[in-house]
Amino acid sequence: MSREVWVFIEHNNEKVLDVSKELLSEGRRLADTLKSELCGIILGDDNKKFYKEVFGFKTDKIYSIEHKELKDFRALPYTTNIVNASKKFNPYIILFGATLTGRELAPRVASKLRCGLTADCTELKIGDYTQPGPQPKVYKDLLLQIRPAFGGNIIATIVNPEMHPQMATVRPGVMKMNEIVKFEGKVINVEPVIEEKDLVLTIVEKIKQEKKVNLTGASIIVAGGMGVGSKENFKLIEELAKVLGGEVGASRAAVDAGWIHKDHQVGQTGVTVRPKLYIACGISGSVQHLAGMIESKQIVAINKDPEADIMKVAHYKIVGDLTKVIPMMIKAYKEKV
Ligand SMILES: Cc1cc2nc3c(=O)[nH]c(=O)nc-3n(C[C@H](O)[C@H](O)[C@H](O)COP(=O)(O)OP(=O)(O)OC[C@H]3O[C@@H](n4cnc5c(N)ncnc54)[C@H](O)[C@@H]3O)c2cc1C
Repeated sequence: MSREVWVFIEHNNEKVLDVSKELLSEGRRLADTLKSELCGIILGDDNKKFYKEVFGFKTDKIYSIEHKELKDFRALPYTTNIVNASKKFNPYIILFGATLTGRELAPRVASKLRCGLTADCTELKIGDYTQPGPQPKVYKDLLLQIRPAFGGNIIATIVNPEMHPQMATVRPGVMKMNEIVKFEGKVINVEPVIEEKDLVLTIVEKIKQEKKVNLTGASIIVAGGMGVGSKENFKLIEELAKVLGGEVGASRAAVDAGWIHKDHQVGQTGVTVRPKLYIACGISGSVQHLAGMIESKQIVAINKDPEADIMKVAHYKIVGDLTKVIPMMIKAYKEKV
């Protein structure tokens, strides 16, 4: 049986999305543990332009499926082609980004292949699993699919012992991206399967809207929570972020209060970030918030409550009222620079 680790390569016809590069980096680690091969599967109408970048993550093989009908993502023909390739080459694992595309595609592929899928994994490992029972059965080298469950109150490890491929989605920003290196792998051209029934949806026009917030790429994030107190006060967070050249983040409570748009939400149901500096202002540090920012290199917490959970993970703790502390920080920074 093949032990190949596949990553679905998501692209926008110009470049490979970061989430796929993060998954290739993680996939490399998994494939090394399994002493197996890392493979990218690319669907499109001109895939060659992506090869160099994909191989740059020490990808051993690219399964390339090219056809003009596969130029843009459409769930039905993409599903058919991934399922077909999977039946032909029997991957052990397939990873998808938990993007709009991945969330639509991965469950369809899993359902057609009659195998399991774990969404939004925060960690992936290779390990053994013993099925309890009168005669315990040991499964070797399974994909341990780890993610928060029950509202973040437990961390669940999910396995898919019998039906392969083992499939998981991971949100952008969760896995660390490796440096690109010079590497040459093998390209395997897979015959596309284009069926009339899969082409019921026609893309008439594509409108590109640039994301205004780039939290995953930011090296400094100043985030505000309920402790900010009001929409008006949120201007303080924006000002500090501007002075430091960073982006504005927020807790879900601040988003729910209508103080800031959901695009700024950090956490389990928001964006996962790992900036060099994360300043949490008036954020208590719930598990769901921590899930999205705990990997930040330096965490500064400004909170009235010295016992708040965020203080337990902060490298620098400022106990005080943020409406007083932040103006002092802005003044001090402006004077220094
Ligand atoms: C399934 C699920 C998913 C979730 N997903 C997310 C998610 O993605 N992201 C997320 O953030 N949350 C998420 N939550 C919500 C989460 O559980 C918390 O409710 C939320 O993170 C709390 O936000 P907060 O820290 O801003 O508010 P609070 O918990 O109310 O904390 C406010 C903090 O501000 C401090 N404070 C008050 N006034 C001041 C002041 N003047 N100066 C300084 N400090 C002050 C307080 O001491 C307190 O620590 C999720 C919950 C569930 C159930």
